[in-house]
Amino acid sequence: MMQKRDYYEILAVNRDADEDEIKKAYRKLAIQYHPDKNPGNKEAENKFKEATEAYEVLRTPEKRQLYNRFGHAGLENSGSDFGGFGVNLDDIFGDVFGDLLGGFGASQRTPKRGRSLQYNLEVTLEEVIHGKRAKIQVPRIESCPTCEGSGAKHGTRVVTCPQCHGRGQVSQTQGFFTMSRTCPHCRGEGEIIQEPCSSCAGKGLVRNTAEIELNIDKGVDTGFKYQLRGEGESGANGAPPGDLYVVINVVPHERFQRNQNDLITSAKVSFVQAALGGRIKVDGIDGPEVLDIPPGTQYGTQLRIANKGVPHYRRSYSGDLVVVIEVETPKNLNATEREKLAEFANLRGESYHSEQGGFWDKLLGRNDEDE
Ligand SMILES: [Zn+2]
Ligand SMILES: [Zn+2]
Repeated sequence: MMQKRDYYEILAVNRDADEDEIKKAYRKLAIQYHPDKNPGNKEAENKFKEATEAYEVLRTPEKRQLYNRFGHAGLENSGSDFGGFGVNLDDIFGDVFGDLLGGFGASQRTPKRGRSLQYNLEVTLEEVIHGKRAKIQVPRIESCPTCEGSGAKHGTRVVTCPQCHGRGQVSQTQGFFTMSRTCPHCRGEGEIIQEPCSSCAGKGLVRNTAEIELNIDKGVDTGFKYQLRGEGESGANGAPPGDLYVVINVVPHERFQRNQNDLITSAKVSFVQAALGGRIKVDGIDGPEVLDIPPGTQYGTQLRIANKGVPHYRRSYSGDLVVVIEVETPKNLNATEREKLAEFANLRGESYHSEQGGFWDKLLGRNDEDE
């Protein structure tokens, strides 16, 4: 593909050009290169398409803003559908030539691609770990089921437009300049609905809430986006539908934190278990897990249970369960326990409160009564 030219350069306007300047610049080019004036001239046709695309973007504030910030790349996912003779050509011509040619009124029955929609889906950590078949309710504009999108009342006929004889186009001459225009009578359909469908008032589209199912893959995280092609709003007059984007939001879990594919939790061990080592049970997300505490474990040590975290997306392995160790100090000791601990402290040469409290260990020869 050819390198795309800058839209401002194509229309030969400054980057800060206002709506009016852009419109005038496009009108000039459109008249010069319009295929009706240049039959069989491929170069003129390309120039016409190029200018139309540039105008289509620069006349739409959101698109212009995207383009200003990100260039052509900014428009790639904006749902724009440029085929040169893009979806909004009639709209553009109504806008640009409406005054010049005496006004045709914007066509309402022009094919127009349906809008893409975004749905934010909350899922739990458990659902992300096990995967899920999700059902979502999506309010959207759909093709009218009563008339199957035709807009015509059931049993009534759609007849050929008498003004354009089914061509959908009429020619208009303004001085030297002849242009084919969408037929205003049938709005380019070439056909006329005698009696409009009552469900959709002849529009062919209705509001509905669609129930859509999709698989939530194991391991997805907040911000993950599913694109469901064609599940957006229906297009008008036979145009394709938009897409549906389902964006994942994993709600915080009360017991586990997620760090990439690891799950983080904490577990309490007694200071004896921490010192001597031992085996404890830890609550994993799917039930109890066994964790070996090595001798000499310190407060805050992180121990791992392999493969008990969050599955990697589309892989057969998981992250780890990371257990942060909290060493508990025993409270409410009875006399025997206190005695044993004092013995232990004596062995280690450590100071401690005596049984009566308020005195420092006499072993160190300290008789301070205040603390
Ligand atoms: Zn209908
Ligand atoms: Zn017509």
